[in-house]
Amino acid sequence: MSVTHAPQTTDVLTRQDPELAEILLGELHRQSSTLQLIAAENFCSPAVLAALGSALANKYAEGYPGARHHGGCEIVDVAERLAVDRAKSLFGAEHANVQSHSGSSAVLAAYAALLRPGDTVLALGLPYGGHLTHGSPANFSGRWFDFVGYGVDAETGLIDHDQVRTLARTHRPKAIVCGSIAYPRHIDYAFFREVADEVGAYLIADAAHPIGLVAGGAAPSPVPYADVVCATTHKVLRGPRGGMILCGGDLAERVDRAVFPFTQGGAQMHTIAAKAVAFGEAATPAFAAYAHQVVANARVLAAALADEGLVVTTGGTDTHLVTADPAPLGVDGRTARGRLAAAGLVLDCCALPHADTRGLRLGTAAVTTQGMAEKEMERIAALLAGVVRGEVESVRAREEVRDLVGGFPPYPA
Ligand SMILES: *Cc1c(COP(=O)(O)O)cnc(C)c1O
Repeated sequence: MSVTHAPQTTDVLTRQDPELAEILLGELHRQSSTLQLIAAENFCSPAVLAALGSALANKYAEGYPGARHHGGCEIVDVAERLAVDRAKSLFGAEHANVQSHSGSSAVLAAYAALLRPGDTVLALGLPYGGHLTHGSPANFSGRWFDFVGYGVDAETGLIDHDQVRTLARTHRPKAIVCGSIAYPRHIDYAFFREVADEVGAYLIADAAHPIGLVAGGAAPSPVPYADVVCATTHKVLRGPRGGMILCGGDLAERVDRAVFPFTQGGAQMHTIAAKAVAFGEAATPAFAAYAHQVVANARVLAAALADEGLVVTTGGTDTHLVTADPAPLGVDGRTARGRLAAAGLVLDCCALPHADTRGLRLGTAAVTTQGMAEKEMERIAALLAGVVRGEVESVRAREEVRDLVGGFPPYPA
């Protein structure tokens, strides 16, 4: 077995530490021989992986370009400036901070920049697709801030704008958060801006999921509306695992100080270089085509799942994300996920708005990177429904999955 995306590294590893090398190769095999339908995942490019596996991983660089607490930063400074400039130009933002280690770290820093412990924050409630950092009692956010949750309409599954406005007027939050881990529709950022202005709140857009679609012009941008935009770089955007923050020039200094030194130490320069590579890729026409195909695929997948009898939340999708209740097929989300995992279809469960049982959450970012299109989405939906119903045995399903992914290697030789 060999790895096509980082041959030297893996050869070294195979010689020096075959035990660990075997694990890496096993994971690569798992990723390329099963169907990756986890909405938050993607396959980053060999160039991104190369930057991640580079000598920049050795460098300590606390601070910001031109103002570091360590010597020898003159080269990594160039890398970070490049990442910042590319992010600003890609998203039309006045300021970009590319140091956040993850999406959650970016949200933590955004709160640190704008809020004080005890402040009231209005965000999508966790049962409706809010992230842990949007007020979970198990997370710093729920412990340190007073979160009020808005929800979605029980009939349509769409964000209840009337409730958002009412809760904002009642609770006068210091910040309003829009963004979700499972909401399949576009978010009306202009609406949230209007409500935030009415009650004098900051607007924080947590665009961790759709930011890659925004980069490719396949989803509306929160940048013109939100005071601060938090994002990940590893979901649809297809970069390295990490976070970023975009904001206006007026908040630049507060945001930068909230990242370092307030919530983080040294920047991960190899990851920042990999972010620069990903921003460069995302600025190409090929990436715009990719982002639009991601959405086209998700729409077909949603429609095909509905044809199979699953109840698709909001009746469809505008994004890469589909959530669906498999109950009409006779099982709940947890059971369905187990059957699907055994068959080689890897996806998540999620909370279903206004339901006691859990549903399935799927995304098309990874399979679209592999080159799959509408026809494959229909095959995936049929296979998924057959497995969930218990009509297709795991062994046969695994063969079908192998057949399906065989034509679309994520890292072609
Ligand atoms: C994925 C996600 C995050 C967190 O990203 P991590 O990199 O896992 O910390 C935060 N907010 C939202 C809305 C997300 O979807």
